[in-house]
Amino acid sequence: MKKILKYFYIFLLGCILCVGCQKGSTPFFTKNGSQEQGKKTEEASATKDIFAMDTYMTITAYGEKCEEAVKAAEKEIQRLDALLSTGSDDSEVTKINKESGGKLSEDTSYLVKRALEVYEDTDGAFDISIYPVMKAWGFTRDKLAVPDKKTLKEALSLVDASKLSYDEKTSKLSFGKKGMEIDLGGIAKGYTSDKVIEILKSYGIQHAMINLGGNVDLLGKKPDGSEWRIALQDPQEEDQYIGILSISDQAVITSGGYERYFEENGKKYHHIIDPSTGYPANHGLISVTIVSEDGTLADALSTSLFVMGKEKAIEYWKAHSKQFSVILIDEERKIYISEDIAGSFESDAKVEVLNAE
Ligand code: AMP
Ligand code: MG
Repeated sequence: MKKILKYFYIFLLGCILCVGCQKGSTPFFTKNGSQEQGKKTEEASATKDIFAMDTYMTITAYGEKCEEAVKAAEKEIQRLDALLSTGSDDSEVTKINKESGGKLSEDTSYLVKRALEVYEDTDGAFDISIYPVMKAWGFTRDKLAVPDKKTLKEALSLVDASKLSYDEKTSKLSFGKKGMEIDLGGIAKGYTSDKVIEILKSYGIQHAMINLGGNVDLLGKKPDGSEWRIALQDPQEEDQYIGILSISDQAVITSGGYERYFEENGKKYHHIIDPSTGYPANHGLISVTIVSEDGTLADALSTSLFVMGKEKAIEYWKAHSKQFSVILIDEERKIYISEDIAGSFESDAKVEVLNAE
C-alpha cells in the first residue's frame, strides 16, 4: 500500500510538472484549443491513466481516432507488462528464470538481444543478469535491507551477462550458470514506449505524449505546431523540476537513484546497481537523461550511464554522439548537456555544454 501511495504521489507530481512546465502555452491536460503561434487547432484528444509495470503511466493522443488509439495502446502496455514483469509468477521472464532459459517470444528476443548489445558496448555496466542482486537487496519484494556480505557475494557470482547465450535460429536463451536470472526492468519501459508510439501511428495519430512513470516518449510536435516542453525532475527535491527541455519526436528517459531507494542507518541505497560491486552505483551522478528516437536504447543507456558515472558517461557520449543526446546531473547539482540539445534546455542551475569534438 505504501508503495502504491508512493507511485501515486510520483504520478501526481508528473501531472503537476507537465502542467507546470507549460507556462505561457497550452496546458498538457486540456483539450487542445490553442490559438498560439497564429495557428488555430481544434483537434480531439484522449488521455488515459494506467497503472502498469509498477508505475503510473499517462497516454495523451490527439487526432480523429484518438480514443481507439489510446485504448489499443493501453492493451499493448498490459500485454507487455504480463510478458516481461519479474513480479508476476506467470510472465515469460519468470518462466525463463525458473527454467534457466528457454524459447523466447518475439518481444523478449528483441529485448534480450538489444540488452546484450548494450552489455557489450558499455563494458558490462548494463547487465540484465543483475536479478539475483536485486533480490539480495530486497528490491523485488519490497523487503529492503542491506544484504550481508556472504549473501551479496553469492548473488553477485551469478551476475555475468557474458554467460547468457541467445540462439537466433531457435530463439532460445540459455543461462551458462545455475541460479542465474534476468531482469528487463532497465530496458522494458523504453521498449514499451516505442511499441505504444508504433500503435498510435497505426491509428493515424500524429501528436502524442506518453509518460511511463517519468519516462516520456513524444510523437510529433504539439497539435499547435510547437515543441513539447518536458520538465526534468529535480533529483534532490521531490516536488520540483530542475530544467525544461523543448523537444519533439523523441524519447526522453531518465534514471535516477531518487526513483527507488531506502535508508538504513542514515544512508540511502538505490535500485541502480553497479554490476562490478553489487552495490548501488555511486560514481558522482544523481540523474541521467537520454534523448533518442530509439526509446529502447535510451532506457538501456540511462541505466548504463548512471552506473558508469560522470567521466565515463561523458566519454561514452562522445564516442556515440550521433546516436543519442544526454543530460547528466552530478552531486553538486551541476548539469552537463550535449551540445545538440543545449539550445532547447532552460534551467536556473549551473549548466556545462558537452562538445563531441
Ligand atoms: P532504470 O530506472 O531504467 O534505470 O532501471 C532500473 C532498473 O533496472 C532496476 O530497478 C533493475 O530492475 C534494473 N537494473 C538495476 N541495475 C542494473 C544494471 N546495472 N543493468 C541492467 N539493469 C539494471
Ligand atoms: Mg533504464
